Amino acid sequence: MTENQDLLYSIPVPLLDWYNIHKRVLPWRGTRDPYQVWVSEIMLQQTRVAAVMSYYLRWMEELPTVADLAAVNEEKLMKLWQGLGYYSRARNLRRAAQAIMADFGGVFPDRWEDILTLPGVGDYTAGAVASIAFGQPVPAVDGNVLRVAARVAGISGNILDPAVRKDIRARISAAMPPDRPGEFNQALMDLGATVCLPNGAPLCEDCPLAPLCEANRLHLQDKLPVREKKKSRRVEDLTVYLLLRDGTVALRKRPDTGLLAGLWEFPHTPGALAEDAAGSAVTAWGLTPLDWQKKLTARHVFTHVEWHMTGYVLSVRGENRDLFWANRAELEQLAVPSAFKKFLEEAKALL
Ligand code: SF4
Repeated sequence: MTENQDLLYSIPVPLLDWYNIHKRVLPWRGTRDPYQVWVSEIMLQQTRVAAVMSYYLRWMEELPTVADLAAVNEEKLMKLWQGLGYYSRARNLRRAAQAIMADFGGVFPDRWEDILTLPGVGDYTAGAVASIAFGQPVPAVDGNVLRVAARVAGISGNILDPAVRKDIRARISAAMPPDRPGEFNQALMDLGATVCLPNGAPLCEDCPLAPLCEANRLHLQDKLPVREKKKSRRVEDLTVYLLLRDGTVALRKRPDTGLLAGLWEFPHTPGALAEDAAGSAVTAWGLTPLDWQKKLTARHVFTHVEWHMTGYVLSVRGENRDLFWANRAELEQLAVPSAFKKFLEEAKALL
């Protein structure tokens, strides 16, 4: 698969023809009032279209202008928003209305850059308002639009990566018809919401872009767009043993390959063991616990794994040929990784 920008240049004609017939009928459609476009877009963030409709209609009845919103009291604001969730959106709407009154003479700003300065407004909302209300050729790229663009042009970058999103935004901007930017943006949103559905279930047979779509041609609908979350670090619990015997402490050498290869470490076992289970582990090494002196905890973060360590300091007797018993001077010479720093310092203090 090769990414193909030309395919995006071919979108506008079939997409807008489709939109003329199939556009969704919504209460905020058909208006070019920036206030109405803006309020609808904020309500639609993280909320389904069907749930927003009645809220939108009630809001416009109660607060029909920017000035009404700027002056509304907290109680009424919360009442109008109650049930939509994410209440900071309502407060940001009012703060933005107050900013429009104070900084723009009560007139909704018509430049994308100015709209973007309003509280609660990001790239997408500024693009939607600027293009729909003011006819500016700026894209409004939400999850729906990212999905359509990635599938049509065969873009295999991770859309959770801001650099990939920026790139797709620039590509859509380049492909945008200058005479119908608002309708183009809404058509992309509608196609993503009703035809180019997520989770590998697009209705390609009903799609006006099917003849030019790379994902359709190569049957990659369930592979695109790529959404890879950064892998979270794995947490490993360990029990670490500071085994003391006649002025020495036990160490062992790590394997020659893998994490911390070839370095010296204090013996440890998997899991965060309680004292009796830790005692059994020590006994299994052929050693006899004599005196449990102290319990320690420590953490160490590697790139892909995080160690949560529970440590026991205890004196023992007996022998185990995998262990090296180091005195204070020898301990200074051995390469012990910083993951065991706390235990190393403890051992030095005790020897
Ligand atoms: S053809 Fe299918 S995958 Fe391609 S844009 Fe249309 S619905 Fe999406």
